[in-house]
Amino acid sequence: MARSQGPWSVAARKLLPAMRGWRESFHEEPELANQEHKTREKVVRALRELGLTPTVYPDFTGVLATIGPDRPGPVVALRADMDALPVEEKTGLPFRSKVPGRMHACGHDVHMSCLLGAATLLVRAGPRVKGPVRLLFQPAEEQGEAGGAGPFVERGCLESPKVDFVVGQHVAPEVPAGQIGWKKGPLMAAADRFRIVVRGSGGHAAYPHRGPDAVVAAAEIIVGMQAIVSRARDPVDPVVVSVGMVHGGTRHNILPPEVELEGTVRTFRPETRDAIERLLRTRVRHIAQSLGASARVEYFRGYPVLVNSPPVTERLVGILGEEFGDAQLEELTAPVMGAEDFSRYLEHVPGSFLKLGAGVPGPPANLHSPTFAPPEESLVVGAAALAAAAVGLQER
Ligand SMILES: [Zn+2]
Ligand SMILES: [Zn+2]
Repeated sequence: MARSQGPWSVAARKLLPAMRGWRESFHEEPELANQEHKTREKVVRALRELGLTPTVYPDFTGVLATIGPDRPGPVVALRADMDALPVEEKTGLPFRSKVPGRMHACGHDVHMSCLLGAATLLVRAGPRVKGPVRLLFQPAEEQGEAGGAGPFVERGCLESPKVDFVVGQHVAPEVPAGQIGWKKGPLMAAADRFRIVVRGSGGHAAYPHRGPDAVVAAAEIIVGMQAIVSRARDPVDPVVVSVGMVHGGTRHNILPPEVELEGTVRTFRPETRDAIERLLRTRVRHIAQSLGASARVEYFRGYPVLVNSPPVTERLVGILGEEFGDAQLEELTAPVMGAEDFSRYLEHVPGSFLKLGAGVPGPPANLHSPTFAPPEESLVVGAAALAAAAVGLQER
């Protein structure tokens, strides 16, 4: 299909060698959440080369910079996340990770490179950029409830000047490279974590009648929690309860005194989130008690639901349609149960989170998989999309 190319895309394509350089450097030296020190240095260096004055923090690996801080127009913030994952890379790419057991398997190397690309385009555009553009390089997106967006907001990343709109994007293997996915309203779920410690008496596995068994109680709890999802909630209101960790025991013929379970809860509505927490706490305790055991439940609130502002998303669809052609935009029909701490910015400022196409022909490689490798086309489209979005949203 012939693809229309707006001015930002033409300029972004010329920037590809620079973006490739940033991406390969980030990719070769992946760093885990809140340890993005080398990554931060690279970002700071690139921003200084653009003539910008980045802000860094003594106790936080994020980087903040503003293009045209004194310009009178609306303030648009653009966000990229910075952290990598504990994954052993198997892409075979020439610029594959040089750090054993660490990989940019979620494409955050691409997000940073797109944002540096967009920053370059916007700096070069000079007075065509009517208002300040805030660049948010955010650490620790993968950190769960302690993600980087919350601390960044607390450090004033949406203030002075006060941000009017926020835009972010994530590479998406399910969207073909070259395209952009968008959705109004809820896009990604709220993500909470629970930890359950089931206590029995422990003892010889040949004499189970001599005390409550934490293993059988834990097994009943795992199955019983699924009945909260399937029987206590409206089936058209999506909920996921998954146990991802089960720890207990030292030997086949010893009943352990304790079994530990850890898992995740995904919801879309605040009242559902509250109800699931309440049900989970009571039901888990009751199941344990019914078997003579006991259970302690800890529940940790993580990222809130990610809700894209409908009016801002509509404006973005118009802006990006002009830049790329409507055929390159794909409306995403259903939300997903994954989570993103971009939602924390959207709690304060209207904006939209876009899915940057990274799908290539052949069997799809998922996010977080050791073979995930977004194509270079994502760099061009991602940089052009962010630049077009910033300038477009500043037009009244
Ligand atoms: Zn991820
Ligand atoms: Zn990610």
